[in-house]
Amino acid sequence: MTKKKFEDSFVKISGLIGGDDYVRVAKSLLSHENTTDEEIAESTELKINLVRKCLYDLFGRSLITGIRVRDTKRGWFVYRWKAQRDQVEPFVESQKSKAITRLTQRLNFEAEHEFYHCGNPSCMKYEFNKAIEVSFKCEVCSQPLKLLDNSKLKAALELKIHEIQNEENE
Ligand SMILES: [Zn+2]
Repeated sequence: MTKKKFEDSFVKISGLIGGDDYVRVAKSLLSHENTTDEEIAESTELKINLVRKCLYDLFGRSLITGIRVRDTKRGWFVYRWKAQRDQVEPFVESQKSKAITRLTQRLNFEAEHEFYHCGNPSCMKYEFNKAIEVSFKCEVCSQPLKLLDNSKLKAALELKIHEIQNEENE
């Protein structure tokens, strides 16, 4: 196994999705094109069910293609799998854009809502309307509720969004 294959973006993204087993399957897919479940299981020494689970997952994310062909020796149909390396970048971009959407929604929610808290880490946060309902007294520990300063959380969310956006421009 060469160092280049180790750093391949297809292998890297597979690892991020499913960990070490996926890395082994991804490397196997790169070293043999149009390979079958069984061949991958053999070369990775992973259980066939695990290999299939990984393949179907990667297939579902359009990171690999599968072609159904007849196994000439045995007469039944098998799938031959192939890495779609050109799909790695679109996949990463779509993951990033989903993450940005999620973080932005959270940020907007934090910006639009005031939260009240008693200071006890195990107690819940109260939205303004709920805090009025309980007369600004924690339902769990009976301590007074104080307006929660979420500026640090908002700043952290903003920072994370900028980080992801900057990655995109690389
Ligand atoms: Zn409390």
